[in-house]
Amino acid sequence: MSPLDLEAAMRTRVRDVEGFPEPGVTFKDITPLLADHVVFAGAVDAIVSHHGRGTVDKVAGIEARGFILAAAVAYHFGAGFVPMRKAGKLPSATYTASYTLEYGEAVLQVHRDAFSAGERVLIVDDVLATGGTVGAAVELVRRTGARAVGCSVLLELTALGGRARLSDLDVHSLLSY
Ligand code: AMP
Repeated sequence: MSPLDLEAAMRTRVRDVEGFPEPGVTFKDITPLLADHVVFAGAVDAIVSHHGRGTVDKVAGIEARGFILAAAVAYHFGAGFVPMRKAGKLPSATYTASYTLEYGEAVLQVHRDAFSAGERVLIVDDVLATGGTVGAAVELVRRTGARAVGCSVLLELTALGGRARLSDLDVHSLLSY
């Protein structure tokens, strides 16, 4: 599938859900995209080819929708998968990064031994909004001594300015809104 065909196919498979999870939010629901095996595979392949094989040692997925994409991307890179989870979910010793959400604070954690020093880490999530979540993920990678080489998301909400907040990072999104 050409990049333009993929973009069009993805766009028709992202569903806007008004007022979820709270009034005023338009939730970008990617479940129709994931359910289409051609479009899902096309999105995973596009992420891998953007960065290039051999450029990534580990793929970090952000709970929960990021896990779905990151595991498939890791498989195609021949790289390991690392979960970045919400507070209290990881069983062993963790690093913690706090960040601001539209309403309130959130926390992301990673196992302290998830990466080796100097490893090249790609961060993967479904949606980039304000960039707070990916910023916290970058901070966690840095604290382990590894290096964030970029982040890939299915879609970015450009009005929320996440890309500007992550100016040091290769931010790759397949769709912009
Ligand atoms: P942010 O930290 O503001 O960049 O928000 C990104 C995180 O929140 C991602 O993990 C997304 O899954 C989720 N998110 C934020 N806004 C939306 C939205 N409009 N639709 C779906 N997910 C969203």
